[in-house]
Amino acid sequence: MKELTLDFGPATSGLTADEVYRDLVAEFHRLNATYFDNGLKMPAIILSRRKSFGGYYQPARHRIVLSWQAYEEYGWDETLNTFRHEVAHIVHFNHSRAFWELANLLGATKRYASRPLKQPRTPHRYVYECAVCSRRVYRNRRLRRASCGSCDKVYNPLYALRLVKDPASR
Ligand SMILES: [Zn+2]
Ligand SMILES: [Zn+2]
Repeated sequence: MKELTLDFGPATSGLTADEVYRDLVAEFHRLNATYFDNGLKMPAIILSRRKSFGGYYQPARHRIVLSWQAYEEYGWDETLNTFRHEVAHIVHFNHSRAFWELANLLGATKRYASRPLKQPRTPHRYVYECAVCSRRVYRNRRLRRASCGSCDKVYNPLYALRLVKDPASR
């Protein structure tokens, strides 16, 4: 799977992808020094064009993936909020009470990502999503007993893929 990172060129508004990346790295170091006594390992930070909205943290790869579209449509505050949310996931994997306390402490003030203005279109009949990292999987056939390959290399029901687009329900 190819992820695009820093080669998008100038954004239609605001900062370039390089500048957003630089500012996220600075924010990580600030959070790490302020709240974790520099105890967190620096994650890879990916600004993805594939990810249509929000973001996720993948523990197996220790990386945070954020949506470039979300930045273009809603700007830095949205991206910063999502980034702080994902940094909290480095410590607490699930949306537990402890997770939300940490997310609030880090300044993630919004609970949910904004909805995309431009809805992505997919020709695939079925869309599945990992309940933990939100990664999407597109298929033309129904999957049985499938789990997220980013969260675990082998089948693991903890990271079961749930159906978010079903042609039978339209
Ligand atoms: Zn979350
Ligand atoms: Zn996952």
